[in-house]
Amino acid sequence: MSTTHEVQNQAPPLTGFSTADDAALLEAVRRDGGGWGEDEIRALGARAGSAEVRDWARMAEASPPVLHTHDRYGHRVDEVEFHPAWHQLMAAAVESGQHAAAWARDRPGAHLVRAAKFYAWAQAEPGHGCPVSMTYAAVPALRAQPDLAAAYEPLLAAAVYDSAPRPPLAKRGLIAGMSMTEKQGGSDVRANTTAAVPAVDGSYLITGHKWFTSAPMSDVFLILAQAPEGLTCFLLPRVLPDGTRNAMRLMRLKDKLGNRSNASAEIEYEQAVAWPVGEPGRGVRTIVEMVNMTRLDCVLGSAAGMRAGLRQALHHTAHRRAFGARLIDQPLMRSVLADLAVESEAATVLGLRLAAALDRAEAGDAAESALRRLALAAGKYWVCKRGSAHAAEALECLGGNGYVEESGMPRLYREAPLLSIWEGSGNVAALDVLRALAKEPAALDAFFAEVDAAAGADARLDAAVARVRKLLGELSDPARAQALARRLAEQLTLVLQGSLLVRHSPPAVADAFCASRLGGDWGHAFGTLPPGTDLSPVLERALPEASR
Ligand SMILES: Cc1cc2nc3c(=O)[nH]c(=O)nc-3n(C[C@H](O)[C@H](O)[C@H](O)COP(=O)(O)OP(=O)(O)OC[C@H]3O[C@@H](n4cnc5c(N)ncnc54)[C@H](O)[C@@H]3O)c2cc1C
Repeated sequence: MSTTHEVQNQAPPLTGFSTADDAALLEAVRRDGGGWGEDEIRALGARAGSAEVRDWARMAEASPPVLHTHDRYGHRVDEVEFHPAWHQLMAAAVESGQHAAAWARDRPGAHLVRAAKFYAWAQAEPGHGCPVSMTYAAVPALRAQPDLAAAYEPLLAAAVYDSAPRPPLAKRGLIAGMSMTEKQGGSDVRANTTAAVPAVDGSYLITGHKWFTSAPMSDVFLILAQAPEGLTCFLLPRVLPDGTRNAMRLMRLKDKLGNRSNASAEIEYEQAVAWPVGEPGRGVRTIVEMVNMTRLDCVLGSAAGMRAGLRQALHHTAHRRAFGARLIDQPLMRSVLADLAVESEAATVLGLRLAAALDRAEAGDAAESALRRLALAAGKYWVCKRGSAHAAEALECLGGNGYVEESGMPRLYREAPLLSIWEGSGNVAALDVLRALAKEPAALDAFFAEVDAAAGADARLDAAVARVRKLLGELSDPARAQALARRLAEQLTLVLQGSLLVRHSPPAVADAFCASRLGGDWGHAFGTLPPGTDLSPVLERALPEASR
């Protein structure tokens, strides 16, 4: 066979790395009391970067789940068939304790270590992070009903992935989902119409629909339905205690932009059995405990996506030459890469700081709880919003190769907007910042106490904090406050990120962030860091082996 040419100047495959080789990650874990988990995080990171797991990710996305409504004889089965690679990803995630195990681990830093693992593992494949995250998130909501929590929590926390459709309490480990969104009511869940009618045994019969229910093969779901007392949270099992299927019909699966390894179903309940969780009529208050946890994972997932994109961009540009030099050595490309690295680190430190605040809040620290309330709402808005722009720019660093599926970049690009949409789309997250300010006055004090820990260290940060205080003074008129909500959420996040970077990251990273994001010396696209920014230490920190 004749060959037409020798393949040259293409980057080698990117495998055999560790997603835990990430200075910002490990420093944050050690700083906030999670150092005891470092070995576990490193082991998981090495697995996430292995050729085997990267192959699972590829296969799980290339062979999306298939819905089987009926068996060959016409019986209703409502089963979704996943590629074996999906189950392998799920099993690895559960066995490493990224699901509800942190709630059972009575050790300071348990949520931080779990967050670090979620971040490291999500870089392998983001789709299965959805059920893993919901299983983690279900616990605090379920605790509103102590008898159910006593029975289900140990199984949600068990390090066993058991995908068989059996009665939940007969299984060795459980996965949880969440069903809130209906056709006429998404962000506005109070418009839900699904009805819950009390039965004599204390259960309720649920009739109605849900427009989005991801991971519909979960064992149990926290759902919202209208009980006689008002909107109420329920625990709905997929299989009933007697082994029969609950009357939860899967109508079809969504054909989604991304998140393709995961299934998201439209479902209908025909008198499905469920048990109330928390006070009847206070369903939103109950389920919001779950939503707050999944929101944290949206921030961590966005940070993970940025880190994964950055790694690919650094790897490619370190191996690709154009116009006589490596791309990574060309001044304009260095500016793009460093800008992406700064954004990535800012997202990482914020996500992990929020996880540390959760640890301390769980231990009874009211100020950390208040900080988390406001900073999570703002961070969900801004970090998730930045994810899409970051993914697009990282993809472009690979040129045409980045636009091709085999690179893995399209998967990152498609996933990014989802993290901004679900668990509170941009506007809803920004409005939640206003709600936090109105309902929890202590949140602002806690927020400024955190930000002001860096007061005096950087004049641009100090000036930005003063601007935020001024903006807060303009919120007295509710309509004006709403119109300013995005601006406020963005600026709150930026000053918090700036403060964290100034205190904890190398001066070059903090300086690039403060000069561009806070000092105003920045364009609208990535790659517009101020002239004179010291790029080398930023790139060296992001991926030492690439910058050599
Ligand atoms: C892939 C995928 C999986 C999902 N999985 C689940 C799941 O498992 N369970 C579940 O319950 N839901 C799920 N969802 C639903 C998701 O949570 C909702 O789509 C999301 O919360 C937005 O609600 P909505 O679609 O009804 O949009 P809407 O509420 O109609 O919002 C549309 C737009 O209006 C904006 N908006 C809303 N209210 C206001 C306001 N007051 N002022 C200004 N702007 C406003 C929003 O920010 C958004 O931009 C999933 C969605 C997707 C895409």
